[in-house]
Amino acid sequence: MSDHNCIFCKIIAGQIPCTKIYEDNQILAFLDVHPISEGHTLVVLKEHTSRVDSTEPLAMARIGEMLPKLTASVKNAMGADGYNVLCNNGASAGQVVEHMHFHIIPRKTNDGVVKHWPAFQYPDGRAAVIAEKIRKNLAL
Ligand code: 5GP
Ligand code: ZN
Repeated sequence: MSDHNCIFCKIIAGQIPCTKIYEDNQILAFLDVHPISEGHTLVVLKEHTSRVDSTEPLAMARIGEMLPKLTASVKNAMGADGYNVLCNNGASAGQVVEHMHFHIIPRKTNDGVVKHWPAFQYPDGRAAVIAEKIRKNLAL
């Protein structure tokens, strides 16, 4: 299924050009048009789903299967020390394009790109409460 209003579906359909890195019957990888660093690559499923939690596990597994090779090629090609694999889910998490995608962002030491997320410590007892809530929502 594709979504007529979705920019990534249009790229997948060839209606909007992209700089292609890899393609098979399930997956497309292409350069981000507004890169955070040179080589910033997006990996998408051809099937339109909006988020990780609305994507079939087997389709997610296909992305997972490709990530080692794609990350290695991006990292090695760019002479990067490391890379971020990022997947924003929902507007609150920074997702702008509502077609599920992974970013591969090559990184170099002191490249000036964000290094640490803001973090805090749980007060006593709070971690156990939170973990119990999450376990109750885990539908296996
Ligand atoms: P998000 O914020 O949804 O995780 O990331 C969406 C990404 O898609 C952004 O980094 C943005 O630069 C990229 N993007 C948006 N439109 C296009 C486009 O038409 N072509 C390409 N190659 N990338 C796009
Ligand atoms: Zn789409």
